[in-house]
Amino acid sequence: MTTTLPAATGFLAAASQDTEIALRPTFAAQGSRTVVRENRGRQHLHIVLLHGAAPDGSLARRGDTAVLLAGELYNQADLHSLLPDGFGASGDADLVLALLDSYGVHAFRLLNGRFAVFAVAGNRALLATDHAGTVPLYVTARPGQVTAATEAKSLAGTSGTGGLAGTRPMYALPGVCQLKAGVVLEIDIVGGMTDVHHTWKPPLGRRILPEADATDLVRDALRRGVRARTGTDTPLVVISGGIDSSSIAALAVEAADGRTIDTLAMGTERHNEFPEAGLVANHLSTRHREIVVSTADLLARLPHTVWAAETTNVDIVEYLLPLTVLYLRADETSRRILTGYGADIPLGGMHREGRLHALETAVSHDMATFDGLNEMTPVLSAVGGHWSTHPFWDREVLDALTSLEAGLKHRHGRDKWVLRTAMADFLPHPTVIRPKLGVHEGSGTTAAFSALLVDAGVPASHLRHAKHLVLQTLFRRVVANGEHPDAVDLADVVDKVAGRQSQSVS
Ligand code: AMP
Ligand code: MG
Repeated sequence: MTTTLPAATGFLAAASQDTEIALRPTFAAQGSRTVVRENRGRQHLHIVLLHGAAPDGSLARRGDTAVLLAGELYNQADLHSLLPDGFGASGDADLVLALLDSYGVHAFRLLNGRFAVFAVAGNRALLATDHAGTVPLYVTARPGQVTAATEAKSLAGTSGTGGLAGTRPMYALPGVCQLKAGVVLEIDIVGGMTDVHHTWKPPLGRRILPEADATDLVRDALRRGVRARTGTDTPLVVISGGIDSSSIAALAVEAADGRTIDTLAMGTERHNEFPEAGLVANHLSTRHREIVVSTADLLARLPHTVWAAETTNVDIVEYLLPLTVLYLRADETSRRILTGYGADIPLGGMHREGRLHALETAVSHDMATFDGLNEMTPVLSAVGGHWSTHPFWDREVLDALTSLEAGLKHRHGRDKWVLRTAMADFLPHPTVIRPKLGVHEGSGTTAAFSALLVDAGVPASHLRHAKHLVLQTLFRRVVANGEHPDAVDLADVVDKVAGRQSQSVS
C-alpha cells in the first residue's frame, strides 16, 4: 500500500562509457537528495535521487541491471501474482526489475502507475513513461552517454544530438527531448542506436453498454483507482465542489476506512467556489479548509507554474496556476494529495453541447493531443513538498471512461452523465447536477491574466499571443537559464511583451 510520498519523486541520472559526466541537478521539486555513483567496468552510473523519506525502494540492482523509478505503481498485487511464489519485491523498482527479467521491455506494458523509469541493462539504457506520461521524462543522448531527468531544467547544458525516436523536442532547450506517453525508449549507450516500444495508446473503439453496466463499470474502476492512491496516512483531496473532485473525495472517504480525511478549497478575493465545496465537505464530514489568495498573489506565481510544469501552453498554465498556489499554501508537512483533475478529457466535459458526433470528435481529439502538455505533472505539487495523484487518469479508469460510447457520456440532457449517475448515491443532489466550472474560471485566473496584459496596454485582439510570449519568456528564464522564479520580475516581463505588442499593432 502506498504511504505518504513515493520512495523517489524525481531524479537526474546518467549512464556513460569511459568518462563520468558532471551533473547539475536543478529541481523545482522540493525534497532530499541522495547521490549514487557506480562504476561497472567501463560504464559509469551517476544518479541524483529526489525523495521524501527513505529512497530505498526507488533503486534496484541485480547483475548488470539497475532500475530507477520515480513515482509509484498502483497494480502491485496483480504484478506480484506474476512472480514466483515467495518472491518478495522490496519496492516498486525491485518489482519492475523482476518483471524485466521475465518479460524484457514488455514488462512496461503490465504497469498501471504514475512513474518515470530509467534503467540500465548491460550496454542498454531503458527510459519509460507511464501509460499517459503523467511524470514527465526528459533525455539527452549521444554516443557514449545517456542522461535523463524528471525536470528538463536539469538537462540544460548537457549535450545531445536531439531528434530521438519516441520523443519530442523541447522549446528553448536544444538537444533535450521529452519522452512520449506510454513509450519505452531503448538506447545503446555505446553506439547511440535507439529502439521504441509503445506500451499504451488511448482506446479508439467504443463500448455499447446498458446504463447500469456503464455506471457500475465507472464506479468500480474509480473506486479501485482511489483506493490504490489512498495512503496509510490521512489523504488530502483538493475539491472545487464539482462532480469530478467531489467523486474523488467521496471515494477517498470510503477508502479511508473510518479515518477522517482532509479536503481543501482555494479561491481569490473575487472568485471562489467555497459554498459548493463546503456543501460536499459537510456531506462527507471531512476536515475542510478554505484558502483565500489575492489575485495579485495568484499572478505572482506565474513564474513558479512555468518553472514546475515546464510548458508554454497558455490554457494549461491557466489551469495549473491556481493549483500551484494551492499546493504552495497547502500544508507545512508533505501530503499525499488526490485531485479530480482530467475527468473532462475522456468524458468530453468541456464540451457543452449535446450532439454526439461533436462530442466524440472532441473526446477523440483531446485524447490524441494530451501528450506533452504536462498537465498532470507531480512537480506542480512537489514545489510545495507534496505528492499529487489523479485517479481519473488511472490506466483502468481512463480506459473505461474513454471507451464508453458518446451517448453514455452525454445522456438525458446531462454532460458527464455516466459519472454523475455512478456517484449519485454518494453526493448531495446539487453537486451531482452541478454544471462544469473550470478551475481557471472558478478562481478567476484567466480573467486576471488577461487584465494584467490589458492594463499594460495589450489590445484585446492580441491577448492570447501576448500571454504566449509572456510564458515563453518565463520558460527561457526559469527553465532554460535556471533562474529561480522568485527572482523574476513579472511586471517587467509583461511590460516588455506589451511594448512589443503595441509596436506590432501600430
Ligand atoms: P477543474 O478544472 O475544475 O476540473 O479542476 C481540476 C481539479 O483541480 C479539480 O478536480 C480539483 O481537484 C482541483 N480544483 C479545482 N478548483 C479548485 C478549487 N477552487 N479549490 C481546490 N481544488 C480545486
Ligand atoms: Mg471545477
